[in-house]
Amino acid sequence: PSGEAGALLAAEAEHVAHNYHPLEVVVARGEGAVLTDVDGVEYLDFLAAYSATNFGHGHPRLLAAARAQLDRVTLTSRAFHHDQLAPFATALAALVGKEMVLPMNTGAEAVESGIKVARKWGYRVKGVPAGRAQIIVAGGNFHGRTTTIISFSDDPDARDDFGPYTPGFVTVPYGDLDALRAAITDDTVAVLLEPIQGEAGVRLPPPGYLAGVREVTREQNVLFIADEIQSGLGRTGRTLACQHEGVVPDVYLLGKALGGGIVPVSAVVADADVLGVLQPGQHGSTFGGNPLACAVGHEVVAMLATGELQERALRLGDHLRERLESLVGHGVVAVRVRGLWAGIDVDPALGTGRDVCEALARRHVLAKDTHGSTIRLAPPLVITQAQLDAGLDALEAVLREL
Ligand code: PLP
Repeated sequence: PSGEAGALLAAEAEHVAHNYHPLEVVVARGEGAVLTDVDGVEYLDFLAAYSATNFGHGHPRLLAAARAQLDRVTLTSRAFHHDQLAPFATALAALVGKEMVLPMNTGAEAVESGIKVARKWGYRVKGVPAGRAQIIVAGGNFHGRTTTIISFSDDPDARDDFGPYTPGFVTVPYGDLDALRAAITDDTVAVLLEPIQGEAGVRLPPPGYLAGVREVTREQNVLFIADEIQSGLGRTGRTLACQHEGVVPDVYLLGKALGGGIVPVSAVVADADVLGVLQPGQHGSTFGGNPLACAVGHEVVAMLATGELQERALRLGDHLRERLESLVGHGVVAVRVRGLWAGIDVDPALGTGRDVCEALARRHVLAKDTHGSTIRLAPPLVITQAQLDAGLDALEAVLREL
């Protein structure tokens, strides 16, 4: 790129740490499922900021909620009460069928907080001897970037050179219930899983797996923590991905879309017998549960409470699945679709996932590769069927020309 975009890319290369490798598009505006670059060129957003903009860019209801709160008060810290926290927590707890909310900001913070709560629950409620708590996680997981979280990642990029690592985690293969059962000991306090593994390429749970995890954890007095940070809040056509399996875990970790794409909002949501282990001074966050976050998060919850967006994701998701399944054998090796969320394994002979995404960008569709030859599609749930079809037409064209 030359001109303004070129200058911005050059400045970014010089002054921003190189921990990402973005597609060469410099976005200046967004509305709904459309992103517009600095030269006025429009793109279809098929990533939705890793599902953080499930409601599209600049949703009028979310903007109105944010603007109204900007004019009132945005930050008090939790040293004082404010009038947005209780309504948000009450609505969020009701939406997912739990009693209490621990508000945080980023997804990684929700995961860290869930780990701390589970350990404390293990010592105080389950009676695990001091310092011995173990948490079981799944191979191929992605839960964030903090030192503790990458300690139980098996992705060398995420993990290498960041040690020493936090102990207390045991990894079993995702989808293998026998391995999970065998890994549980008296010291196990929790099983932490993504109900659908997003970064691993939208890996769906084998039939019965999540229900099996629920059964084993209940039997063994172990908490089941579902990281629904990417899978939750409408993406899969239900409020929570666990609902597809009729499973209710003990703890939900939520983030991304909870902030409406406007502010970072995350939460640990559970019943009082679990979250009640936290007492004053034992955990916190300067920004967690701030008035602006709560006002936006409350509007997000209100939008989800009607079920309309979930319905839409289901309906458009059926169409997405039909179209993607027709590509298997034509440049695509396998597809996994749940709601408006798809992992597509492209024939490696055609190129890498990155190659496909670069070719898609040239056709004004923005998607993101994940490992190797897998790309992931996660358009905003407000996308129209015509926009969805336009993006899929571009994908078909790219697969033909590669
Ligand atoms: N958990 C899951 C399942 C995620 O997909 C992500 C982000 O991609 C996170 C946690 C971390 O969220 P954040 O980037 O907001 O820290």
